Amino acid sequence: MRDGSFWHRPARGVMIVLLTGVTLAVNAAFVDEYKSGINWAEPVVVDPGPAGGPPSDARVLFNGKSLDQWQGGDKWEIRDGFAVSKETGINTKDSFGDCQLHLEWASPEKVEGEGQGRGNSGVYLMGRYEVQILDSFINKTYFDGQAGSLYKQTPPMVNACRKPGEWQTYDIIFNAPRMDDRGKVIKPATITVLHNGVLIQNNFEFKGGTFFERPPAYDNPHPEKGPIHIQFHGNPVRFRNIWVREIKPAPLAK
Ligand code: MG
Repeated sequence: MRDGSFWHRPARGVMIVLLTGVTLAVNAAFVDEYKSGINWAEPVVVDPGPAGGPPSDARVLFNGKSLDQWQGGDKWEIRDGFAVSKETGINTKDSFGDCQLHLEWASPEKVEGEGQGRGNSGVYLMGRYEVQILDSFINKTYFDGQAGSLYKQTPPMVNACRKPGEWQTYDIIFNAPRMDDRGKVIKPATITVLHNGVLIQNNFEFKGGTFFERPPAYDNPHPEKGPIHIQFHGNPVRFRNIWVREIKPAPLAK
C-alpha cells in the first residue's frame, strides 16, 4: 500500500504548484524582460463590422445597390441586393495592388451545363491573376480549373463548395509581384484564399498571369496596381458584399 506515503497524489500536486510558484517569483526578480526596442506607432482602430464585414476601413466596391465603381457595371442586373453577371466582364475603375478582398457569390440554383459551363465566372487580381469561380458541387472538370483554383496553376487544396444557389464567400489576401528595374521578378505575386472560411490556397506563388490558351507568364513591364476584374463567362452568377482593403504594414512611430 503506497497510499500512506507522503508522495500520495494530492501532496505531490501541492508540491508541484509550490515549486512552480517559487520558480516564477525567482524569474521575475532576476530575469530582464526582452523588449524589441522598435518604436511602433499605435495600430489604427478598425471596427470589423458585422460577420462578413465590411470593416470600417474597407473600400466598399458593391453594397447591393450600385456597381458605379465598376466599368461595365451598368450592363449587369441589380436586384434584391445582389448583382447578376451579364453581357460583359466588369473592372473596378480604381486600381489595387497588395490587398484583402472579400466577395460573395452564388452559382445558379437551376443547374445547367457541366464542367466549365456550369456557374463559371472568376475574380482577377490586378486583371491578371484569376481565382476561379465555378459551380464545383458534384461537378467534375480539370482540377486546376475548379472553384478556388488559381486557373491552370493549381487546384484548391480542398473543395469547399456549397450547393448551387447558395451564397459562398471568398476571402483573398493578395500580394502583387515585385520586379527590379529591368522587370525581372524578384518576388512573385502570392495569394491566400479562404472559401466559405476554409483555407484553400496558402500563400501560393503565381507563376505569372493566368490564361486560357497559353502558359502562365508575367507581364513585363508590370504595373504596381491594377483593376479587380470579375469575369462574365456566359452564366448568370450572382454577387454581393464586395469590399477591399489595401494592405499596409504596421506603422512605426514618427
Ligand atoms: Mg472563370
